[in-house]
Amino acid sequence: RTLLTRIEQLDPQLNAFVTVTADQALEQARAADARRAAGENGPLLGAPIAHKDLFCTLGIRTSCGSKILDAFKAPYDATVVQRLADAGAVSLGKLNMDEFAMGSANESSYYGPVKNPWDLSRVPGGSSGGSAAAVAARLLPAATGTDTGGSIRQPAALTNLTGLKPTYGRVSRWGMIAYASSLDQGGPMARTAEDCALMLGAMAGFDPKDSTSVDQPLDDYLAALGKPLNGLRIGLPKEYFGEGLDARIADAVMAAVEELKKLGATVKDISLPNMQHAIPSYYVIAPAEASSNLSRFDGVRFGYRCENPVDLTDLYKRSRAEGFGDEVKRRIMVGTYALSAGYYDAYYIKAQQIRRLIKNDFVSAFEEVDVILGPTTPNLAWKLGEKNADPVSAYLEDIYTITANLAGIPGLSMPAGFVDGLPVGVQLLAPYFQESRLLNVAHQYQ
Ligand code: GLN
Repeated sequence: RTLLTRIEQLDPQLNAFVTVTADQALEQARAADARRAAGENGPLLGAPIAHKDLFCTLGIRTSCGSKILDAFKAPYDATVVQRLADAGAVSLGKLNMDEFAMGSANESSYYGPVKNPWDLSRVPGGSSGGSAAAVAARLLPAATGTDTGGSIRQPAALTNLTGLKPTYGRVSRWGMIAYASSLDQGGPMARTAEDCALMLGAMAGFDPKDSTSVDQPLDDYLAALGKPLNGLRIGLPKEYFGEGLDARIADAVMAAVEELKKLGATVKDISLPNMQHAIPSYYVIAPAEASSNLSRFDGVRFGYRCENPVDLTDLYKRSRAEGFGDEVKRRIMVGTYALSAGYYDAYYIKAQQIRRLIKNDFVSAFEEVDVILGPTTPNLAWKLGEKNADPVSAYLEDIYTITANLAGIPGLSMPAGFVDGLPVGVQLLAPYFQESRLLNVAHQYQ
């Protein structure tokens, strides 16, 4: 109840929530109390959380930040939603996001931009900007997010949170509205690595309903936190510290490296030579997959339908033209073009080949080091509206995060102090299924 009041008071300024589910939350809280009274004692029992508004929730609007799904109520819960509810977490509602998770500023939402709680004139990052703002403003201790090219790690960095993108296949995508299916992955956002470990323990695991879910036992994420960092080999890729990086962020990241050395880590310079091709490759693959995934929003099966269509083509055309925002349309067009018969080999196949090279870079780097460390973002949180006129300048913000999605490896952003009053994030990357190592390093650093 305290948090619901806090949301009522503060959210009008932040715009982090699309839907607050007060009645349902109170009901879940009472059920958690009853479970506790009956002797149950899980760490998430009664813990308040909320979900990014692309996780389907039974009977509750799941908008994906889009007009086209403004009236959509899912007929089932996503696996992640179900698992957190089973663990006793209490969901307070659904969180704002970039439309269909496309963006890095949370400005493309149909429900308006989200504000950064550290400076209300600045963006919180995206696309999980509502999750980031809600947790950073202490409206919630933890929230779910999704990360296709950085959408958990980048907003975590810009709002002083810990955010974890798990290995592709670690967390079920069932019931998560798809953006780019081969890159999408759900994960936790919270203030500490410990809270992320608790969330991940409930969210992750094999799910027969998701064909890309991996059937491999979970680590004990909580137990891994305490391990000392003696002998940890950290790799610093030279490509992460080159042109385009704000010097103040570079300094903050190197200060974090010094701290980790004091905790027993050793540092090695490494190279990820194909990183320069990551943005062009991602901005072919992600829109290509999005153009295919979003074809289901046709005005017939889900969501928005235009008024008085004259025939079926008119219904498709106008429902989509009126239902999707500009950024989504731009990506559908880019993706459809890249997949078209004449250009498929030149763009999509090429992008997939680059993706393999990027993956191979990581595989060889991890023969020499245990984790890779660098900045999460090249810049601090920018002013609302600043990058709207130039989408490419926003795409460039993803430079350090998208490689983990292309390769499928896990990545975490942890808070590393403030410069000029704005938070800086340090990104850690690890080999496949080594989420516990990332959480361990972040916990020891904190
Ligand atoms: N900013 C990236 C994009 O717009 C990443 C988004 C995401 O991870 N969902 O595609």
